[in-house]
Amino acid sequence: MTKGPSYGFDTLQVHAGARPDPATGARQVPIYQTTAYVFRDADHAAALFNLQEVGYIYSRLTNPTVAALQERIATLEGGVGAVCCSSGHAAQLMALFPLMSPGKNIVASSRLYGGTITQFSQTIKRFGWSATFVDFDDMDAVKAAINDDTRAVFCEAIANPGGHITDLDAVAAIANEAQIPLIVDNTTATPYLCRPIEHGATLVVHSTTKYLTGNGTVTGGCVVDSGNFDWTASGKFPSLSDPEPAYHGLRFHETFGPLAFTFHGIAIGLRDLGMTMNPQAAHYTLMGVETLSLRMERHVANAMTISKWLETHPAVDYVTYAGLESSPYNHLVSKICPKGAGGLFTVALKGGYDSCVKFVDNLEIFSHVANLGDARSLVIHSASTTHRQLTTEQQVAAGAGPNVVRISIGIEDANDLIADLKQALDTAQ
Ligand SMILES: *Cc1c(COP(=O)(O)O)cnc(C)c1O
Repeated sequence: MTKGPSYGFDTLQVHAGARPDPATGARQVPIYQTTAYVFRDADHAAALFNLQEVGYIYSRLTNPTVAALQERIATLEGGVGAVCCSSGHAAQLMALFPLMSPGKNIVASSRLYGGTITQFSQTIKRFGWSATFVDFDDMDAVKAAINDDTRAVFCEAIANPGGHITDLDAVAAIANEAQIPLIVDNTTATPYLCRPIEHGATLVVHSTTKYLTGNGTVTGGCVVDSGNFDWTASGKFPSLSDPEPAYHGLRFHETFGPLAFTFHGIAIGLRDLGMTMNPQAAHYTLMGVETLSLRMERHVANAMTISKWLETHPAVDYVTYAGLESSPYNHLVSKICPKGAGGLFTVALKGGYDSCVKFVDNLEIFSHVANLGDARSLVIHSASTTHRQLTTEQQVAAGAGPNVVRISIGIEDANDLIADLKQALDTAQ
């Protein structure tokens, strides 16, 4: 691929990052199942270790199969580079690591994947970092939560579990004014529906486990860099602007310019934290990304049909799909994700917790699993699972109260899915 960005999304999702294998001509990206790479000679090895030459050393840092996926996701997101890692949660830590130090904080949306709320409210405290959670519908609250120690603003484009849409442009303007990066988790939207960098995001993180792979086979994550942030201007990001002792005084921003964050992610992040994606996982995800637009179109069409039908069922209290006219986020669809509001939403049942449990237990096509973004339709009762570690207050703020079931609509026949939902709701009533 030489003309890169001038091709359309459907072409790039198949071709970006991949070229016929130079050794064999293999058309599909080979799984480079190798730990290490032979150096041409001692000088070559020294140049690679000094970051004076780019090349393969050891698969904790770089691997050709993983590199193909990194280039493909970066291209689809409109970024300059990307670093893949072992899971979505690893990607979040990899995104924060270069920005943070003890005593620093992030301002995060209260509507996030439950595991992320736990990671940010509990686990990062061990590093001396903290998070302030606010309602990202309230821009004054976002602004007010930022202080001199804030090093990033974090939100999801389409929030898990409710499918609520964040006004990324408004949040980016606030982050920009504070001279801190906006990090957007684009897992549930995917770059087909939403391209956060075009709305001002500095970094985009993914759980590639979900729609990008799209078949429930492997866990993975990715951090995409827009290349647009000036890491030196404010003096707030010394890991990227100041001499790095682990590379004899190398300054990442000065040396690598817009690729500073990506190089830091590989040379320091993967090297020292070791949250590496393996080449088998990269292969499955490359396969998945090839059909991303086709799947997302079906996910959106099915979610639209099914959410409309659910609103009419007597057992249903409300449905949160942003594609519905009843959603307070409906006006943001055309601005943030014009091709559709995704395939994820919640349904609240009038019968409360007990009804939710009966509903989930009676479904036949839908699987009750802790995953989303699969070709298969999935459900989960968040309050008793993904959001279980949260207080009831946090659950409600996250859109995952006890009366709520999260639905990830698959690519099956919508009529079959409706028939399944109908029989389970009729029983749960
Ligand atoms: C699943 C998920 C994550 C975590 O990703 P893993 O691959 O499970 O570590 C983060 N954010 C969102 C929105 C998710 O759905």
